Amino acid sequence: MNIHEYQAKELLRTYGVATPGGRVARDAAEAAAITREMGGRSVVKAQIHAGGRGKGGGVKFAKTPEEAAELFTKMNGMNLVTKQTGAEGRTVHTVFLSDPVDIARELYLSFLVDRATGRVTALASTEGGVEIEEVAEHTPEKIVKIAVDSALGLTGHQARELAFALGLEGDSWKKGATFFQNLYRLFVEKDCSMVEINPLVVTAQGDVCALDAKIAFDDNALFRHPEIVAYRDLNEEAHAEIEASKYGLNFIKLDGSIGCMVNGAGLAMATMDIIQYHGSSPANFLDVGGGASEEAVKNAFRIILQDPGVKAVLVNIFGGIMRCDIVAAGVVNAAKDIGVTVPVVVRLEGTNVEQGKKILSESGLSIQVAANLDDAARKVVASIR
Ligand code: ADP
Ligand code: MG
Repeated sequence: MNIHEYQAKELLRTYGVATPGGRVARDAAEAAAITREMGGRSVVKAQIHAGGRGKGGGVKFAKTPEEAAELFTKMNGMNLVTKQTGAEGRTVHTVFLSDPVDIARELYLSFLVDRATGRVTALASTEGGVEIEEVAEHTPEKIVKIAVDSALGLTGHQARELAFALGLEGDSWKKGATFFQNLYRLFVEKDCSMVEINPLVVTAQGDVCALDAKIAFDDNALFRHPEIVAYRDLNEEAHAEIEASKYGLNFIKLDGSIGCMVNGAGLAMATMDIIQYHGSSPANFLDVGGGASEEAVKNAFRIILQDPGVKAVLVNIFGGIMRCDIVAAGVVNAAKDIGVTVPVVVRLEGTNVEQGKKILSESGLSIQVAANLDDAARKVVASIR
């Protein structure tokens, strides 16, 4: 789960991580009032779950309260296109006003889980404000990596090493080290999967603070953080993905034309590969999980069909815990309820497969039953040719 910059900054403050003051404005008058409180100037920042806002026009400087009000009006509701949103962009629903900071240097710092070492790892670079992928591509030597031992946490020594690598000196060096240790504590205690501070700035006064903050949380640990779940912004999530999560289903939108209902991530990958192999591509995939009910299967089928990209559906289920007759009944009921207009190919294997196939063939619906996965992929690709 991702959260907005203003929410991330609220969290940073509770961990004593320095970040400029700021508030969300609900309307133009409030944007002006907040700016007045800040001494007449502010940075007006669009809140979307994507970076690159600065270059896309989502970060603007207001020199007067009136200008802040104008910028608010322009930004609120705008469709913001950045390098990370894709061409379709994102609608801005929230506008944050930040205290302007007198920047001396822009740096980069993040914590993430390095899968290769299985450790939380700090990445630091003197090249702040630039996307880290670009730094990694052109000047990889400018990225410093420090792996944290989970039993020790980020040690004082490591924090100072990071501060040194970032070229911090004197008081800023000390402030930096404290900043890094507090941020690491947040990362662990809140079960983050990534925290990125870009830019981390040194101000003209020598303070070290987070000018931007991006935090992602491990979904599997959200059950123990209701305070984080409360930050969830459904405006930022694809409609079908939200709908699927209501029923405990995982839906992923892709850009091809075949809708895929599968159980298990591995089978999803195999299904997508074989569709590509036979010359088409998946419009989405929906993982119904290990032991879905007939009701869940029905909802899954409905969600897949609501995707306008879907020209045909491939149901590929291996019945282990999941029973094939339940899948078949769910598909048949959903098809009858919704009135399916696209070709549907079903491949079932495993527990109660014979009953499942019988339900499908006796349904009176034009559902094609495939002999195996290869046959299923061939049939579904042929159906849209
Ligand atoms: P994004 O990463 O989405 O482009 P940022 O919050 O990093 O958005 O802002 C982009 C740039 O705008 C920063 O690199 C910084 O130069 C400037 N900026 C952002 N917030 C402030 C602020 N409070 N004071 C001064 N400059 C800022
Ligand atoms: Mg940024």
